[in-house]
Amino acid sequence: MNSINDIWAHVLEALGRELSSTALNTWFSDCAPRELTDSRLIITTPEEFKKGIITSRFSEKISACLSDLFSADLGLTVMTDEEYEVYEDNRKGAEDDLPFVSDYTFDNFVVGPSNKFAHAAALAVSENPGATYNPLFIYGSSGLGKTHLLLAIGQAVHASRPKDRIVYVNGEDFTNELVHCIQTGSMKDFREKYRQNDLLLMDDIQFIAGKQQTQEEFFHTFNALYGAKTQIVVTSDRPPIEIGKLEERIRTRLEWGLLADVQPPDLETRMAIIRSKAVLLGLVLTDEIVEYIAQNTTSNVRQIEGVIHKLTAFLSLMDTEPTISLVDRAIKEVNQGGVFVPTPELIITETARYFGIPEDLVIGQNRQKNISYARQVAMYLCRTLINTSLEDIGSRFDNRNHSTVLTSIRKIEDLVKTSPDVAAAVRDITSNISAKNRN
Ligand code: ADP
Ligand code: MG
Repeated sequence: MNSINDIWAHVLEALGRELSSTALNTWFSDCAPRELTDSRLIITTPEEFKKGIITSRFSEKISACLSDLFSADLGLTVMTDEEYEVYEDNRKGAEDDLPFVSDYTFDNFVVGPSNKFAHAAALAVSENPGATYNPLFIYGSSGLGKTHLLLAIGQAVHASRPKDRIVYVNGEDFTNELVHCIQTGSMKDFREKYRQNDLLLMDDIQFIAGKQQTQEEFFHTFNALYGAKTQIVVTSDRPPIEIGKLEERIRTRLEWGLLADVQPPDLETRMAIIRSKAVLLGLVLTDEIVEYIAQNTTSNVRQIEGVIHKLTAFLSLMDTEPTISLVDRAIKEVNQGGVFVPTPELIITETARYFGIPEDLVIGQNRQKNISYARQVAMYLCRTLINTSLEDIGSRFDNRNHSTVLTSIRKIEDLVKTSPDVAAAVRDITSNISAKNRN
């Protein structure tokens, strides 16, 4: 027995002696052993929910079995697949110790009237972290350069103060990491990482809204950093006042410093962005082509970039000069592939997350009021956002029949019109879903 797979097979065999095959299948069929160090085995499972069960019900047994096998104390760490990815990324980041190598620099950021203010604020902060605007809060719709500015601050500070500890995280990973640290009893590490650094860059903070424990932790993180005059930069798709379910004490703190928005770029800025991206790709474009692209793309910069990338791909395949008709084709393909259509799974996940209810409860038969409400909202969003058929929705929600589904959807339709709270919840969840578009 030498490979990690052999070891895992042995563990499963031992568990199989005590569990029914259904139970074994339910909890472990999609589990994967990931790595074995001399102190622990890391396994992953796709779902948060399963992770909880495996940790609480089986981890002792598994550890005992491992210890038997190796005649030494071995622990078990259970992570979701996603957490493991983050864990690996972090480790890689730590290994090469260069957290901010990317094209997201100030040099590559095209400044125009739509983003001038945010850019100037970001630059000022990077030159004098902690001393000018603290916190700096940058907000605006998806694809307008918030993450770019945030990372540009990181790179600039890293270049001028190489010893500074810079932490970049987005709201969602912050939440996941917190949950993980609570479960594995490693809160000390978590606090050390977030409260003892020289610059905290928090991307897409709207994802912590509604999560009590995460907000609590962020509140204390904020206070510790702010008290130590450490620079905090936060981005969001909305200004603090519009982030529903965000605790008041956090909202006020986020407003203590400077709020800067990024707006969609005007035609001239779009042209400048196109030129800049073309240069980065070594692509030569005539003025006519540049203007044509600027006029025929939306103002989402991510989409403009998509067109340039596609065009570059066409050109290298066909070995021709860029023409208007080729540009048209690139735009068309980007628009088709580029319109973000969330999946029902994503809608259900985001709804569950927003209400802080496990997904399986949202899908299942529990009739508790807040759970049925979340379920109805999820059904409503599946219908209104992506026009999922009633049958399909029913099948995703524990095989409900289509009239039950319809009643739920109608109920939320009515509430959206009459209750500002329900309307706000629907708007926030929709916004969270579209922020998941990172193409
Ligand atoms: P957001 O975080 O606001 O959703 P990003 O920062 O991820 O948007 O930007 C999307 C893409 O557009 C990135 O590749 C980024 O480099 C590019 N981009 C956005 N604004 C600009 C700009 N003003 N100049 C150059 N590139 C930009
Ligand atoms: Mg972003």
